[in-house]
Amino acid sequence: MPVGRLFDRQVTPITRRGVDVEGRRAVRIAVRDRADGDFPVLVPPDVSPLITAEPGRWYHLADLVGSAAPAPPVGEAPCPDCGGPTRSGCAGDTVDPAVSRAVIRLGIVEPFAVVSSRTTVTRPDETTDDRTGSPVDDPPASVCDACVSVVA
Ligand SMILES: [Zn+2]
Repeated sequence: MPVGRLFDRQVTPITRRGVDVEGRRAVRIAVRDRADGDFPVLVPPDVSPLITAEPGRWYHLADLVGSAAPAPPVGEAPCPDCGGPTRSGCAGDTVDPAVSRAVIRLGIVEPFAVVSSRTTVTRPDETTDDRTGSPVDDPPASVCDACVSVVA
């Protein structure tokens, strides 16, 4: 998983689960890639899930955002808006703050992929390669999950 970069991967879905984040619905799709690696794909609210959880079907996802799991809040300055604990941002925060909240709620602690408005899905063929693309925007230095404000 190329954390902090866009990447392409051929995957087959394993399981799919919706999670409510402040009245908006995100989706986590657990997928397996051709190297037999499993990883979670997070679909933010208001973004098309792109792939169904039909077992045995393969998809080529292009321009997924690779993200580390949100770090636990440790010793950072409290949020100036609500006084809540803050944590370092992750690449998922650059797509939608709901992504990190869903990841925290689901207990995901490993790197994960995010479907963004740039992500596309096609049917794979023999000529499609997994690819690592350009870096995504730097994550915010500090994020409050209590009020979803980006502190810095
Ligand atoms: Zn706050």
